[in-house]
Amino acid sequence: MTELGRKQLLINGQWRDASSGATMAVVNPATEVVIADVAAATPDDVTAAVEAARGALAGPWGALPARDRGRLLWQLGDRLMAQADEIARLETLHNGKPIFESRQIEIPACVECLQYFAGWADKVHGETVPVKGKALVYTLREPLGVCAAIVPWNFPLLSAVWKVAPALATGNTMILKPASQTPLTALALGALALEIGIPAGVLNVLTGSGAVAGQAIVAHPGIDKIAFTGDTTTGRGVMRTAAETVKHLTLELGGKSPNIVFADADLDAAVRGATIGMFYGKGEVCAAGSRLLVDRSIKDQFIDKVAARTKKMNVGDPLDPKTRFGALASRAQLDKVLHYVEGAKREGATLVAGGSRADIGTGKGFFMQPTMFADVTPGMAIAREEIFGPVLAAIEFGDVDEAIARANDSMYGLAAAVWTRDIKKAHYVASKLQAGTVWVNTYNVYDTAVPFGGYKQSGFGREMSVHALEHYTQTKTVWVDLS
Ligand code: NAP
Repeated sequence: MTELGRKQLLINGQWRDASSGATMAVVNPATEVVIADVAAATPDDVTAAVEAARGALAGPWGALPARDRGRLLWQLGDRLMAQADEIARLETLHNGKPIFESRQIEIPACVECLQYFAGWADKVHGETVPVKGKALVYTLREPLGVCAAIVPWNFPLLSAVWKVAPALATGNTMILKPASQTPLTALALGALALEIGIPAGVLNVLTGSGAVAGQAIVAHPGIDKIAFTGDTTTGRGVMRTAAETVKHLTLELGGKSPNIVFADADLDAAVRGATIGMFYGKGEVCAAGSRLLVDRSIKDQFIDKVAARTKKMNVGDPLDPKTRFGALASRAQLDKVLHYVEGAKREGATLVAGGSRADIGTGKGFFMQPTMFADVTPGMAIAREEIFGPVLAAIEFGDVDEAIARANDSMYGLAAAVWTRDIKKAHYVASKLQAGTVWVNTYNVYDTAVPFGGYKQSGFGREMSVHALEHYTQTKTVWVDLS
């Protein structure tokens, strides 16, 4: 028997095995031990979840006043906070992220998101439109219907809540499919929703593989919207399949975000920003500042400082509250990162920190040293491809225009940062960067009231903020003849 036992699908308020009886193992990446077995949903299970979600729309959920939906979402936030210790532990167990990040940062961010959108539930409404002739014209903001959230393993709960909260606030029902590696906290969220009285069928949780359950969700004609977060290649396939049934779609995809440091910046702050921007979440963060663009005139001293700070980061047991750098999420992730490290050496980049697998004294776990390369040129793979792991690539530039050109020389456009004391330069560069978020003299700050999403092949649509509401509602126009 595993530590956490066997977990079932949540469909229509009931826990049940997959229709095939199949399960998938969940591994703790810090110990390599199987900690749970979860049901592997089939296309039949997807259909059952769609029927449940449709039934809830036509039934109690559709009839519930908007303010009561908001109340329930607020209570869900309260309940999550009350169980923060337990759910943060699950997040760390299946992902390998430090408990500090799960408990102190990400669970509170989930609660904030649920309660922010709880507040919006009764504030989304239509308008009356003055028109020519004798007519009353008004618009209604209506839910899309059944929405599906397909989410990755790096922020298993937060990336789910970013979708569940606005979808439920605006009256939709939801099918949530977590990543195969990290299904436990999505199931926990489903359990909390049931406990606080969100009606059966409103939030269904289908664990299972992307290739089977994910694909069946995207293709299902009974689903109105897909909110997808994941790899750009997977996102392209999702877009193709969703086109068959003309589904609403938002895509939050990969990134290769530039972090630009000018010589006139507060360099100590920029050093901190470079390491936090890269190594929070073990670098398995879509917005990670993985391309460090450094002014040539300060390059050597700045890179030395960042490398020194990188070497000081302690890789440790993710469950230890003092740990700030945990285990990579899987063996495949570790292998991928090591592959990029070897490739960078072959291409002529200079390794200035890390570069190897780490051991925390147990001889187990997918631990990797925080790693940094200098002398990276824009054509190298580590400058172009999303590694999605703790590998920082330092690239030099000569002037403002070259910094902007190098920053924008990417198919991605998720985030960027600029470090300078010159306010004009900061705003000028921010205006030129092709990125959905630009941080000035900071990195990795978020707030539920602030939109987040990509430019270019980092996707489209915005999570959080008032803008997310647009992606879960549609506008109906009503013309009334008054002549
Ligand atoms: P992924 O392989 O694309 O998987 C994401 C989700 O899609 C998982 O639930 C996966 O299920 C599912 N999936 C896989 N194939 C599918 C298919 N054919 N049809 C439908 N669903 C499918 O991405 P990942 O490796 O988990 O996550 C890393 C990526 O996410 C990175 O590129 C990162 O940048 C991106 N990301 C972006 C943001 C953002 O906000 N822009 C935030 C976080 C992460 P399985 O787990 O079973 O494969």
